[in-house]
Amino acid sequence: MENVIIIGSGPAGLTAAIYAARANLKPMLIEGVIAGGQTGGQLMITTEVENFPGFPEGIKGPELVDLLRKQAERFGTRFVLADVENLELSKGSPFTLSADGKTYQAKSVILATGASARWLDLPSEKELQNRGVSACATCDGFFFREQDVCVVGGGDTALEEALFLAGLCRSVTLIHRREELRASKIMQERAQKHPKIKFLWNSVVTEVHDVKAGTVTGLSIKNLKTGETSLYPTQGLFVAIGHIPNTQLVRGQLTLDDNGYIKTKPGTTSTSVEGVFAAGDVQDHVYRQAITAAGTGCMAAIEAERWLGHHGHL
Ligand code: NDP
Repeated sequence: MENVIIIGSGPAGLTAAIYAARANLKPMLIEGVIAGGQTGGQLMITTEVENFPGFPEGIKGPELVDLLRKQAERFGTRFVLADVENLELSKGSPFTLSADGKTYQAKSVILATGASARWLDLPSEKELQNRGVSACATCDGFFFREQDVCVVGGGDTALEEALFLAGLCRSVTLIHRREELRASKIMQERAQKHPKIKFLWNSVVTEVHDVKAGTVTGLSIKNLKTGETSLYPTQGLFVAIGHIPNTQLVRGQLTLDDNGYIKTKPGTTSTSVEGVFAAGDVQDHVYRQAITAAGTGCMAAIEAERWLGHHGHL
């Protein structure tokens, strides 16, 4: 019987492990391969991280994960490399889960399974990821100062990214597949009024150039009304067509919000089931930063420790 099982190995899960281990909970962390298709989460597909406090020269995403992991290991976290196949929460604590053919029991669970960015699924987009193609303006916008960039999408995220980039870049072109935005009216007004943001309607990106050069130089854009494809020069492509929270395991067991993210009680990481806590992007569609994920991971471990103590489990 484990005190706490943490599911997920991005900054949220690893920070929860550091705190839980230092509180002597002897945590088990199941790394999983769901978030971003690999252990370590979305940071593993990020090159330069320049905004994580404490690294004035910046740090590579995978290196940051490695350091967090070593820190969690140092205090006795046990790592299990497996995907959780089944998680039973409805009967309350103790919770049962199975991974890689083994069954585990835990008095408390911290869910840190993250979210995955949606991509356009073009081979050239994948090739140029981190070389001009990004899914996070807050993370990568700084690399495009005084350059011309494009944003794809018509929701609140796309407009938020476009407005953020407009504060840094020379120009921002928002490419949307329809001629009506999905975003809230206030965001629409703000973006449409911004002198640096222009719109390409009824348009989709069909190719990102230039894979051979290893950097973004332009996009092939198809106008869905006319059927014509043209080359649009740009130096950066921000894909903002939504995220998918990794909540497959808990659907129907925990309360989720309208977008499928785990709902937590305001100001806490408590979920709708006692003894189950959620941290990082799986419960956050607003900030989505490594540092906020780490912050909520810390909260989840402290709350789990208090919950276990309060219920006489320690
Ligand atoms: P949304 O699902 O709201 O929007 C996704 C956008 O991407 C849509 O405009 C959609 O087009 C477009 N899209 C989807 N797939 C493709 C594709 N393959 N090719 C081209 N375009 C595509 O996601 P968001 O991330 O914008 O927002 C998620 C939720 O978070 C929303 O509820 C939003 O309101 C909320 N949010 C709120 C914020 C705030 O309040 N400040 C900030 C950010 C998000 P189409 O419209 O044609 O379907």
